[in-house]
Amino acid sequence: MATAVSDGSLQRPVAEGFVRNAPVSAVQAALREAGLPTDQITFPYIPLLVESGGRRILFDTGNGEFSAPTTGKLLENLAKAGVAADTIDAVVFSHLHGDHINGLRNKAGTLMFPRAKVFVPAPEWNWWMDDQRMAAAPEAQQAAFRNVRRVFGPIAQQVQRFEPGAEVLPGVQSLPAFGHTAGHTAFVFAGRGGRKLMFWADASNVDALFVRNPDWIVQFDLDGEAARQTRRRLADMVIRENMLLAGYHLSGSGIGTLAARGSGYDFKPLSA
Ligand SMILES: [Zn+2]
Repeated sequence: MATAVSDGSLQRPVAEGFVRNAPVSAVQAALREAGLPTDQITFPYIPLLVESGGRRILFDTGNGEFSAPTTGKLLENLAKAGVAADTIDAVVFSHLHGDHINGLRNKAGTLMFPRAKVFVPAPEWNWWMDDQRMAAAPEAQQAAFRNVRRVFGPIAQQVQRFEPGAEVLPGVQSLPAFGHTAGHTAFVFAGRGGRKLMFWADASNVDALFVRNPDWIVQFDLDGEAARQTRRRLADMVIRENMLLAGYHLSGSGIGTLAARGSGYDFKPLSA
């Protein structure tokens, strides 16, 4: 059983450089084709709640108190779904960008899922916790390193690190999905109606752009070429194995089906 639970969304202007290898005119054409506004892009943030092996597992935790007022809605939406934060048994992170980890602890430092064990991909942890890499990073990137330390520093001893490819918890298979970040990880588990479901997190950003045009590279990717290959590899696996797909920045309910179309793919969200 898997449920997408929204953390809200954010509007960003359509600017040169958002897609590294396509001009704004092509980005706007893709948005127009999808029936979307061409001056702004809506970024949804959609953590996923999975019940597996008798456990309640949350994949990624949203923005918490650390972004715009249109975000940070995860706890509210969990409550609406009848899920109390202290009934979450495990929190599993796909990667350590702020929009995925900032919901773990609030500004006062309190853990929002007090009973949950916390799981992080080992290569992701090692990359961000490397002090030399942080010192060598440009100032603009240092904030992301500091943020990882703020969230995880005080609880580092309790964080369980796993190798992508391992079964993280019973019924939860992880898959290396490197490129967006050094240790970015996807997950496969039982979905709905006997169909497997893949949570590919940020293997693509918004689908009207990066699922339709899987060779486009978003500005946030650490290694754009690796991210592009990962996106195609995972998309082909979803189609070949007739899986459902969930993604952190996909549209609608955030869970849907994927089909090949032209040189890219189409994501069709299921109704929530
Ligand atoms: Zn993200």
